[in-house]
Amino acid sequence: MSLTDKLASERRARLAAERLLELKSRELFEANRKLSVHALKLTDQIVEQREVVQLARSEAETLKDRNLQTMAELERAEKQVGIVERRLWDSVETVSNGFAVFDQQDRLIAANSAWLALFDYSDVIQPGIPYIELIRFAAEQGIFDLGEQAPSNWISDMLDRWDQASIPEVTLLLWNGQYMRFLDRRSRDGDMVCLAFDITDMKTREEELRDARSRAEAANRAKSAFLANMSHELRTPMNGVVAMTDLLLEGDLDEEQQLYIRTIRSSGEALLGIINDVLDFSKLEAEKFVLRPEPFDLERMLHEVLTLVAPMARDKALDLHVDYDLFLPTRLIGDPGRTRQVLTNLIGNAVKFTLTGHVLVRVVGMETDDNSCKIHVTIEDTGIGIDANMQEHIFDSFAQVEQDQNRNFEGTGLGLAISREIIEVMGGQIWVESERGRGSCFGFRVTLPCADEQRPPPRGLEAGLVKAMMVGGGDLDQEILSKQLRQLGMEVCCVRNGSEALSRVNSGFTPQIVLIDERLADAEGTDLAAALRQAGLMSATVLLCADPHHAPSPSVRASVDAVLSRPILRSDLFRTLASLAEHRRAAQGEGQAAFASRRDHPARPRQMRVLAAEDNRTNQFVFRKIVKDLDIDLVFAANGLEAVDLFCSFRPDLVFMDISMPEMDGKQATSEIRRLEGASGHVPIVAMTAHAMSGDKEEILAAGLDQYLTKPMKKGLITELIVAACPAECVSPVVKEVVAAQ
Ligand code: ADP
Repeated sequence: MSLTDKLASERRARLAAERLLELKSRELFEANRKLSVHALKLTDQIVEQREVVQLARSEAETLKDRNLQTMAELERAEKQVGIVERRLWDSVETVSNGFAVFDQQDRLIAANSAWLALFDYSDVIQPGIPYIELIRFAAEQGIFDLGEQAPSNWISDMLDRWDQASIPEVTLLLWNGQYMRFLDRRSRDGDMVCLAFDITDMKTREEELRDARSRAEAANRAKSAFLANMSHELRTPMNGVVAMTDLLLEGDLDEEQQLYIRTIRSSGEALLGIINDVLDFSKLEAEKFVLRPEPFDLERMLHEVLTLVAPMARDKALDLHVDYDLFLPTRLIGDPGRTRQVLTNLIGNAVKFTLTGHVLVRVVGMETDDNSCKIHVTIEDTGIGIDANMQEHIFDSFAQVEQDQNRNFEGTGLGLAISREIIEVMGGQIWVESERGRGSCFGFRVTLPCADEQRPPPRGLEAGLVKAMMVGGGDLDQEILSKQLRQLGMEVCCVRNGSEALSRVNSGFTPQIVLIDERLADAEGTDLAAALRQAGLMSATVLLCADPHHAPSPSVRASVDAVLSRPILRSDLFRTLASLAEHRRAAQGEGQAAFASRRDHPARPRQMRVLAAEDNRTNQFVFRKIVKDLDIDLVFAANGLEAVDLFCSFRPDLVFMDISMPEMDGKQATSEIRRLEGASGHVPIVAMTAHAMSGDKEEILAAGLDQYLTKPMKKGLITELIVAACPAECVSPVVKEVVAAQ
């Protein structure tokens, strides 16, 4: 090879080497570049990792701090819990009451010393002991006084007690004379928490109180007996005084003498009223009295109460009205004595505190589904009224309105307090609405069971009596009576006086019944009755009398078809209307003269027989005087035995019975009479007694007597009772003008 070739080949080789070198350099460069990119990435990653590690390290530091803190707190909390637990237990230990806790399996967890002391710190009572063993131990060791109970029974009672949802308290007497009250409760997680209270002092005080109470009750019984005796002793001579003044007033006296005697009588009556009030109140206070429910007739009672106050009302020319809801039952079951007492007080007050105008008693109500009646009674007067600020106080004991006028009225200030107590015990309410100078309206509301099947107002009256005319009698009278007649289906026309009545009839109005007030502004009621007949009106005439004590004379009775006394009892009204309707039906058959002929030829009936059992000569004398004007056959019995004999031989229509009599008292005599008459009949027997204590009446009525009168004997009441009990076949007891001595 030539040099040139060599050189050329070397050059070619060198060029090739240079190209390879360049290629390799480029590859190296590229690799370097990649390497440095990668190195850069790695560096970044390393930096990042370092930061993460840094962060993790610092977080770990923080956690470590926190952990240390939590550990410290936990330590503190543990200490605190220890303190609280110690304090709690110290407190539980300090209290004198026993405290123990049992777990869900009824095993003792812990108990304080007071609780352990109950068991005399016995070693047996340790944490872990089951309740059943503890109870057995207590029963066996005589820890508790089990009384008459056998230990096995006592244990099972105590275990049963723990099983109840609401565990009852139990009081046990301990071996050391302590009384402990045990109160056990299950906690939410099933533990049983037990408390034991020492109530020994309370028990001792209770016993002392019981002793003191029974001593006080004995003293109270003695006081009641003393009051009863005193009442009897005070009332007997006062009755004599009042009764004698009644008789004296019937004599020939000049005006001054009459005034003196009336003053003696009213003072005596006032004194009797005060004695009754005070006695009654002390009894209410002492006994928290009990009600003695029995059937009674509310409407009749109302009328009896009005009869009592009628003399006082008459003296002041006050009108007394009763508006007893026509369809409301009258026979109810309640305490008649107490109901009468409330009515007497409210109606008595209305009359007492009213100088002019009227007193209106309204009874409304409704029957409930359970055969009871919601009764609503109001007593409205047109009297002096009561200031608004005094109205809430007058039901308090001894409260009287301090008004100038009020001082003119007697009273104890106890009547309303007694009435409120009675109504509240009956479950009712009592209230007053009043305006000074205009009048008052006292009311009460009670719910009483209905006594028996109530008779509805008679039907069929309408057939005979369709149209009625009422003449005279004042607005209220007309309002009440015409409302009742309308309720019975009649058309009623009210006119003020006789001439208006005549002109209505002359202009063609033909009522079948005319109710005429006995005293009209322009005529006597009887004269109008005659004038109407003359005018050709063949209607039934009923005379309305204001005063039941002032019985109409036979000639007056003969001039009308019927007489009704105000306030009119519903039963009297129904009876009268029914008999007039009956007569009318008969008259339509017999001809129009039937009414007149029935009046003209009355058959002479027998006298009513009245037996009065009374041992006291003075009282016999007073009674004889009281009934001297009545057409009755009167016989006296000097004791209960005689009364029973006379009941058999004399067959009285009515008996007045004294209660305290020698040989046989009035209650025994009545029982004997009731036995003798059996189911065949029932003679009304009226008790007459000087006993005025509340409770006496109930006892007397329980002996079989029908009614109860306290002495002094009241002419008006006795006359009323005799008239009311007069059998249909007897001559009317009232034949002469009877003016009740007041
Ligand atoms: P008393 O009538 O014995 O004073 P009450 O307790 O019955 O006692 O009445 C208390 C007072 O209430 C009466 O003194 C009287 O001031 C007032 N009061 C009672 N009823 C009426 C009435 N209808 N009108 C005006 N005041 C009356």
